[in-house]
Amino acid sequence: MARILLIGAGGVASVAAHKCVQNSDVFTEMMIASRTKSKCDDLKKKLSGQGTDITTAEIDADDVDALIELINDYKPDVVLNLALPYQDLTIMDACLATGVDYVDTANYEPLDTAKFEYKWQWAYRDRFKDAGLTALLGSGFDPGVTGVFCAYALKHHFDTIETIDILDCNAGDHGYPFATNFNPEINIREVTADGYYYENGEFHRVDPMSIKRTYDFPQIGEKDMYLLYHEELESLAINIPGVKRIRFFMTFSESYLTHLRCLENVGMTSIEPIEFNGTEIVPIQFLKALLPDPASLGPRTVGKTNIGCIFTGYKDGKPKTYYLYNVCDHQESYKEVGAQAVSYTTGVPAMIGAKMLVTDTWKGPGVFNIEEFDPDPFMDELNKIGLPWHESFDPDMVD
Ligand code: NDP
Repeated sequence: MARILLIGAGGVASVAAHKCVQNSDVFTEMMIASRTKSKCDDLKKKLSGQGTDITTAEIDADDVDALIELINDYKPDVVLNLALPYQDLTIMDACLATGVDYVDTANYEPLDTAKFEYKWQWAYRDRFKDAGLTALLGSGFDPGVTGVFCAYALKHHFDTIETIDILDCNAGDHGYPFATNFNPEINIREVTADGYYYENGEFHRVDPMSIKRTYDFPQIGEKDMYLLYHEELESLAINIPGVKRIRFFMTFSESYLTHLRCLENVGMTSIEPIEFNGTEIVPIQFLKALLPDPASLGPRTVGKTNIGCIFTGYKDGKPKTYYLYNVCDHQESYKEVGAQAVSYTTGVPAMIGAKMLVTDTWKGPGVFNIEEFDPDPFMDELNKIGLPWHESFDPDMVD
């Protein structure tokens, strides 16, 4: 029925490719294209013969002309961008030039500034609308499922939502002293940035990792978590009418933070290029080369993730609290698709987002954040496709 072009062949792309093949009634044809073709070929080898016709290609997704040529050759119904946030705009440009819908999981970031802002991608709204095309932004878990959870809570449980706390807990243990669960460069840029939360119409800045809380996560137990800025705060502040406060917390172990502080203190997390032996290097990119490849963590990671949202607000004039969350087991994910839960919880919703577009369940045209669409079909797919959700009407609150 549909032909999908998947760009990238890392941890998240690998899960999405598995899930497309598991949904081969929808995704009858798939091209996996990435910078390193051998990774695409490895995936093809694993997934061939299961109903989806798979081809592979080498692509530099920074090169718009090369992307246009590839898309014109393959003629996909949708492009699922699972490369890095740096490639979002070039891939969106190529989609516009070739008339194809677009899906990603992380907002555009310029290489030289660690900013998490939608302004660059929102600037494409008129062009996508005029071209009759749809771009779905942030179809991972956070952003992604967390936005769908917000839309679902608003649709079914509240007349007005006053506060949203997004809690992202990864209680996985990979046995390394220090490693990141997804692309190290993107991960470290995110956690070393200033924290921000939204309250009463504006964003408030706090020093990185300066607000700490402990939370007793269902199926996991007590974990320390820290307030971070996360990109979905920007769109949710606009798309959830009347919301007064939105915060995002992520769990980190003391050991992870000690390593990170040390790396930061010696300049290894910097994104400013330096000259070394006549070659220009970016310290954080060099650090990435030293750290374990996130895709290699799968077999050794045990434990669970729990990501969800706690809402407070009013229904029929009465105050209400509501907690929606998913628990994902690292080893179960690995058994099913050969990847740990952080890649799994991103790759599954990425595939669902693409499925929403190719089945015309969600329609534009324009550029949309995920919470702007009807959450119900996406929530149904989560239950069917490996990320079942749970709800509680009496959660512990974050003080
Ligand atoms: P990886 O580093 O494992 O994979 C990235 C892939 O993109 C690699 O295959 C890489 O190629 C390829 N790539 C990088 N640059 C280019 C380029 N110029 N042209 C073509 N291919 C390129 O990352 P992850 O799989 O962990 O993450 C993928 C995306 O998912 C990221 O954008 C990340 O921010 C996002 N993410 C979103 C989450 C969410 O919940 N919303 C959570 C986790 C991740 P090569 O193999 O040659 O390096």
